Amino acid sequence: MAKNKLCPQCHIRRFSVKNEAGEIRVVTVSENGEIELVHPEESLEGFDLDTLYCLGCSWRGSIRSLE
Ligand SMILES: [Zn+2]
Repeated sequence: MAKNKLCPQCHIRRFSVKNEAGEIRVVTVSENGEIELVHPEESLEGFDLDTLYCLGCSWRGSIRSLE
């Protein structure tokens, strides 16, 4: 099973990303740093993938900051 990168604060693996309209998508990040949709039928088009928002705590930041 593929491993996911984790929130540096609360160590869960699910994050959200946002677009300009304020919509969100729930994603995980693979060990290789690839953003993967939890619901693959959705689209990430137009979403800002540079900032991840943790679903478990107030952390937000870039993929590079994940553990
Ligand atoms: Zn967190």
